[in-house]
Amino acid sequence: MRLMLVEDDDHVAAALTAVLSRHGFAVTHCRSGAEALQAMLPDDRAPFDVVLLDLGLPDTDGFEVCGRIRKVSTTPVIMVTARSDVRSRIHGLNLGADDYVVKPYDTGELLARIHAVARRTTPGTPDPADPVPGSDVLRLGAVTVELTTRQVNVGGAAVPLTRKEFDLLALLAGRPGVVFRREQIISEVWRTSWEGTGRTLEVHVASLRAKLRTPALIETVRGVGYRLVPPAAA
Ligand code: CA
Repeated sequence: MRLMLVEDDDHVAAALTAVLSRHGFAVTHCRSGAEALQAMLPDDRAPFDVVLLDLGLPDTDGFEVCGRIRKVSTTPVIMVTARSDVRSRIHGLNLGADDYVVKPYDTGELLARIHAVARRTTPGTPDPADPVPGSDVLRLGAVTVELTTRQVNVGGAAVPLTRKEFDLLALLAGRPGVVFRREQIISEVWRTSWEGTGRTLEVHVASLRAKLRTPALIETVRGVGYRLVPPAAA
């Protein structure tokens, strides 16, 4: 997998490159926003499978770099930020970032997120949660979701879900690892706007976690929304 690492701190970049290389990544290191945008062009060759973008860069703001990458390319972008405040995360996701990690991050978590965004965009990359060909079954560790019959099993035993609980699970499980914004979930599952539905969403998430007996399966992304944690990383 070809990865572009945009990071102005050479020590951080060297350590990360060593880890990523051990995990089979071909890493191209860029030290500035200008260098990164230069490396992205021309886009018709899609030079990278994923971009790891530090927000604190010497020339341009990482947000601006993300916006400009998104104008010319669909290559997934994971923002790496020390800014853990909510507004920055939402701003990044709105600019088209596919995910973000907050420094200091755990290397295992970073690798899981890189694989999760790459799976969405790289055809043929194996995904443990991919539907089995010829059926509509999602397997998430001990949890099995049958989309056509709307049946959910945990460790082989059927678990009754309400209609909205199932819709919520199916939505998140359809794109493991991807962060769904709260407004987005409410619009897709409840077919309504944000106003007043936030508490309903929280109640449904809590109920799903309890019924599936796997609380870690659905992760709260504070200030943004929820994501289903791919079983391999759970
Ligand atoms: Ca930096």
